[in-house]
Amino acid sequence: MFDLAGIRVLVTGGSRGIGLGIAKVFAQAGAAVAVSARNTDDLARAAEQLRALGAAAVATVSTDVSVRDAADAMVASVTDQLGGLDVLCANAGIFPSAALTDMTSADLTEIFGVNVGGTVFAVQAALPALTQSGRGRIVLTSSITGPITGYAGWSHYGASKAAQLGFMRSAALELALHGITINAVLPGNILTEGLQSLGAEYCANMTAAVPLGFLGAPEDIGTAVAFLATSEARYITGQALVVDGGQTLPEGPDAFA
Ligand code: NAP
Repeated sequence: MFDLAGIRVLVTGGSRGIGLGIAKVFAQAGAAVAVSARNTDDLARAAEQLRALGAAAVATVSTDVSVRDAADAMVASVTDQLGGLDVLCANAGIFPSAALTDMTSADLTEIFGVNVGGTVFAVQAALPALTQSGRGRIVLTSSITGPITGYAGWSHYGASKAAQLGFMRSAALELALHGITINAVLPGNILTEGLQSLGAEYCANMTAAVPLGFLGAPEDIGTAVAFLATSEARYITGQALVVDGGQTLPEGPDAFA
């Protein structure tokens, strides 16, 4: 069961954080792994780690996923380097904060451009290769923020993460015709460089809000994504899987010990 050896995977935003955690889980399973992001130094460092973990092959592509042509070129490069594509993990995302009182239209355009546009463009670009694969899988990285919870200062982010799920549900119906499944993982607070940049106080407060008592590791998301990419998960599509240490369960601060 759960044999991912040799399958060809592209993880957008795979140079660090959750994306790198996803890529590492596939690499350990012997998959051929491609990672994309904008910064080439980060990509080179990620590739080194993925090779050391035993990936069947490693490819990197420098891309801005919010640009449609760049997403097309990314997938063309990956299919060329890996000989095809079986799994797309549309994970690249940004989470700058902006209070409603001073959120600009540029803030809104930027976050939707990367988090929603980047998701849609990657899926569209990958469609022919995933169809050809015969076992195409797409897993989106959404968030608990937006689909389930809210956080002051992140209303535009929450809207973009909920939008990914709206996209997924209709896309699932279109993709089913091509034998492709599409699902989403909804991470809680995962200890990445991006999360750490929000500060020690933020991380401490979030740890206190998690019933399991610790922030997740990127590989905790990677394991859930990898499951959704297996042949055994072939009957699951259009679904959202929360991976949050129980953070969204309590009815109030006194609801857990
Ligand atoms: P991160 O550490 O900041 O990593 C983000 C990744 O996305 C990097 O590889 C980054 O590389 C890439 N990226 C950003 N903008 C891009 C663009 N325009 N084109 C291509 N690549 C781009 O963030 P993270 O915490 O791992 O978050 C990853 C995903 O998980 C996001 O979708 C985020 O919303 C979601 N998420 C995170 C958490 C959490 O607790 N960390 C919780 C819920 C959801 P470059 O900057 O080099 O492009």
